[in-house]
Amino acid sequence: MPIYKKSLKYPGYSAITFFYVIAFVFSASAAWAANREQSSPPPDAVRGFSYEYTVEEQAYIKANPRIKVSNEFDWPPFDFVADGEPAGFGIELMDLLAEKAGLDFTYVNGYTWDELVDMFFEGELDVLHSLSITPERQKKALFSAPYYHSKHVLVYRSDTRDLHTLNDLDGKIIAMPKGWSTIEFFRTHYPEVHIIEVGSSRQALEYVDQGKVAATVEQEGIARYLITKFGFTDLALSNWLDNDELQKTSSMHFAVLKSNPLLFSILDKALSNITLSEMRALKEKWFSRAGRKIGGNDVGLTPEERGWLAERKQLTYCLSRERLPYSAVKGTQPMGISSDLMEIFSERLDTALIPYPVASFSEGLARAEDGSCDILPMVSKTRGRQKYLDFTAGHSGYNVALIARDETPFIRGISGLANLRTGIVPSSNIFEKVISKYPKLDYHSVDSIGACLEQVSTGLLDVAILSLPQASHYIRQKGLTNLKVAGHTGIDEDLRIAVLKGNTTLHSILSKVVRSLENQEMEAIGNKWLAIEMAQEIDYTLLWRIAGIGGSVLVIVILWNRKLARLNREIASANLKLRDKTRELEYISITDSLTGLYNRRYVEKTFDLELQRTIRHKHDMSLMLIDIDFFKAINDTYGHQTGDTVLKMFADLLKTNVRATDTLGRWGGEEFIIVCPEINICNAVHMAEGLCEKIAGIRFDGAGKQTASFGVAGFQEGDSIQSMISRADNALYQAKANGRNRVEFLE
Ligand code: GH3
Ligand code: MG
Ligand code: MG
Repeated sequence: MPIYKKSLKYPGYSAITFFYVIAFVFSASAAWAANREQSSPPPDAVRGFSYEYTVEEQAYIKANPRIKVSNEFDWPPFDFVADGEPAGFGIELMDLLAEKAGLDFTYVNGYTWDELVDMFFEGELDVLHSLSITPERQKKALFSAPYYHSKHVLVYRSDTRDLHTLNDLDGKIIAMPKGWSTIEFFRTHYPEVHIIEVGSSRQALEYVDQGKVAATVEQEGIARYLITKFGFTDLALSNWLDNDELQKTSSMHFAVLKSNPLLFSILDKALSNITLSEMRALKEKWFSRAGRKIGGNDVGLTPEERGWLAERKQLTYCLSRERLPYSAVKGTQPMGISSDLMEIFSERLDTALIPYPVASFSEGLARAEDGSCDILPMVSKTRGRQKYLDFTAGHSGYNVALIARDETPFIRGISGLANLRTGIVPSSNIFEKVISKYPKLDYHSVDSIGACLEQVSTGLLDVAILSLPQASHYIRQKGLTNLKVAGHTGIDEDLRIAVLKGNTTLHSILSKVVRSLENQEMEAIGNKWLAIEMAQEIDYTLLWRIAGIGGSVLVIVILWNRKLARLNREIASANLKLRDKTRELEYISITDSLTGLYNRRYVEKTFDLELQRTIRHKHDMSLMLIDIDFFKAINDTYGHQTGDTVLKMFADLLKTNVRATDTLGRWGGEEFIIVCPEINICNAVHMAEGLCEKIAGIRFDGAGKQTASFGVAGFQEGDSIQSMISRADNALYQAKANGRNRVEFLE
């Protein structure tokens, strides 16, 4: 809600303006929530206020010059020619701008994109639209706010198996429309990719379809539109490409030459005056939902399964009334991650899914068991539930965290809970999983998540074991700002879809839809609910405050500035706290608390990624395991605390002596690991010997001279994480056996 913050920063506003702002924020946020399209940050913001034209601008408009605007030949849905007439989203948007500005536009067509760009920069065209910003273009042109946003993806034939990321394009041939800024991107960053320049996006898709090229790169929204429109049923899309540089070009703007600043400011103001609903109507018309069913999301149902669904016509799903951010019912409106998920399912199965509201999560389990609802979304698989339910694969996973008061020191997992009064909610999704993993856990049962957090906040309990999204929802809802994430359990709340046991057809259908879900879809839904919750919380506070003031404008005028300033501070500090907590949480989840190095889980993840990269590019890679010699003796002689100090100093020494590209972590106890990409065994051994000498050369506080042993392994074809670790471990064992304070390696 940037607009909201922006307006609050100016406490000089009158009360009346404030009411407009609030009314606008509410309508804007409602529209935003209702709008499921992954569209631009709407050019709404700031909009809604009418901009006056300056005297110069009015004179310009009055002179009524002929404004020449680009019209591409064949780039639907943005910009094309239908029956000799300009058509498309970009054209209708330009029409709207002309109308708002009181200008006349002439569309210039019959040229390729490449030619239109040249004409524009040579001053033969006044406005070029539906293009992305590049530094080169920015030198000569002014760019409007973005009015459409869709991230880039790869488009390939659906039988393609080896294309997922930009790196996979190395050595491959792709098709790109001539003059596209993406071509420049590839030339600079991926020179190994061969590009065939074609006339249009549609032609690029044809080339892919016909097998002339391996792929093309296109904005997701456009690709989906073209695939539906022209029936490219054999084409599929990758996930969003993970490259900031490329995704910078995912927004559409219009451009006017710097030599014509008056025209630019008139049109920019006109764009600001396009209302949210006008923009939404345009987008709905040109980027309709129909385009989103196909392209990589084919569920692959058998004819029998389709028949089964057709016969059932509709299915019901259990929806807990109060389980945010997972689910809730507001009036008659289902909300939350669950119902968004069910909407995707409904679309993909072409079957109505009707919510069956239940009071609580445990009632949902009961209603699924007695068959009142067909589908139970967002539930973890446990031994108890498997007696009467069948589960799909997991569709999302969230951390189960330890929540405690701010002053509580870091808790090392569940084993660190001894002597702490620990609360858990037996009716919650995670209970069985936690208890089966830690049967000896000494806990207090609390009825609800909210009550559990409140008892921690007030000091009745010391810590609560809760799933993180739900915990953070209640912390915000109840304003329990003295709570924090004090540690992790190493348990994930894995969420799945469940059906009554034995309903094999439905189980198979749902399993297929879960498989068709893309990570980014789940991520978008999760982020959306987190964002909405935060926005709503702030809105409610404001609403409440306004209601409290009682509508007396006069009183508000007097009180307003002060209230506003205070409110601003409160919100700013709440946001800061939230941001800090998120950062803290990210930090905690990947860091070892004693040494500040990466923890084992994080190293394993990075190792996995690096190994894949090494295999793909046939590069070198080495792995190093390091174990402090006779460490037990340090503890025994000088005490555990000194042992800890040695570990910290040891970690610091390693930290300052590895390359930025290496991943250094604590592997366990007094063992450390370094993943060294792009380094062959020879250099790795050399590096290890250097480290070994450095260690032996310093004095550790309270423990004097110490040494360590090193085991090094180099990447070999066919290696897995396990095989490399096992070789490094064997080498380390040899180093110990050969007298310690030395490096051994196995190629
Ligand atoms: P070796 O040279 O064969 O490696 O002998 P060692 O004594 O180092 O080997 P061992 O693996 O038997 O001992 C490791 C000790 O490290 C045992 C354990 O008590 C201690 N340790 C593990 N984690 C920590 C920690 O976080 N702090 C402290 N102070 N000690 C730890
Ligand atoms: Mg050891
Ligand atoms: Mg040791």
